[in-house]
Amino acid sequence: MASDEGAKSRRAGFPPTRKSLGQHFLTDRRILGRIADALHLKGDETVLEIGPGRGALTDLLAERAGRLIAIEYDRALAAMLRERYARRSNVLVAEADVLEVSLGELAAGPYVLVGNVPYYITTPILFHALVPPRADRAVYLVQREVAQRLVASPGGKEYGALTVNVGAVARAETLFGVPSGAFSPPPKVESAVVRITPLAQPLISQEEERPFRTLVQGAFGMRRKQMRRVVRSLYALDAAQADALLAAAGIEPADRPEVLSVGQFVALLRGAGKR
Ligand code: SAM
Repeated sequence: MASDEGAKSRRAGFPPTRKSLGQHFLTDRRILGRIADALHLKGDETVLEIGPGRGALTDLLAERAGRLIAIEYDRALAAMLRERYARRSNVLVAEADVLEVSLGELAAGPYVLVGNVPYYITTPILFHALVPPRADRAVYLVQREVAQRLVASPGGKEYGALTVNVGAVARAETLFGVPSGAFSPPPKVESAVVRITPLAQPLISQEEERPFRTLVQGAFGMRRKQMRRVVRSLYALDAAQADALLAAAGIEPADRPEVLSVGQFVALLRGAGKR
């Protein structure tokens, strides 16, 4: 199977497929069109694409974006894309690790974000993209399980640090599922397209983002513990102090982190800040 893929790539004139870089190329034209449509481009915007690969989505975006910056880590693919778009003044191919670049700085102004992202770093990419200045909207093709985590409600097993950190600043929605057969080579998991739109009024300020993330990661690191234990451990409190802090935030001491709403995490952060 793998050697079939290699032979197909070579015949098509593509560089060898690097599975270690999460290279599963989307070949279904209808789905590629639906992803581009989901961005609702107006024609004059700056679009950042994460992991353009062989350029299947890039081709559509280049037609619809005012300016397109495609960030590809694979040197051979980046070189191939540079050549392909050499005559298009609105397309820039940046050879870089997306986690190492500031998306806002690269865009140098308002931007929208899109990516059929490499699955070995999906969650780090989603967190990276939360760093301000954020995209006006983002559309990602991700593992179905990550899509479920993004839109999960409190109490479920998918609800976690990703849900809460995204939910504090943005609205996540699943748009449609993508079967593994739509890719070449097919990944082992099913996929889904999600859109993330920043809230006009985020639940936390920019200054609160870092301590909020620390609190939320810390709490979900103790997912099976009760909140009394969690806040005692995170903020070095005795039991009475912990109960007072939780009461002020409207949280039952025996609750576990996975049942707390985003608003309760925000209240807890603010209560801890006042101590
Ligand atoms: N967008 C293409 C498509 O839809 O067919 C390719 C998608 S493929 C799932 C992910 C792409 O991300 C690959 O081209 C891979 O080389 C690239 N990639 C992997 N790690 C990366 C990183 N750290 N930074 C930027 N691109 C990366």
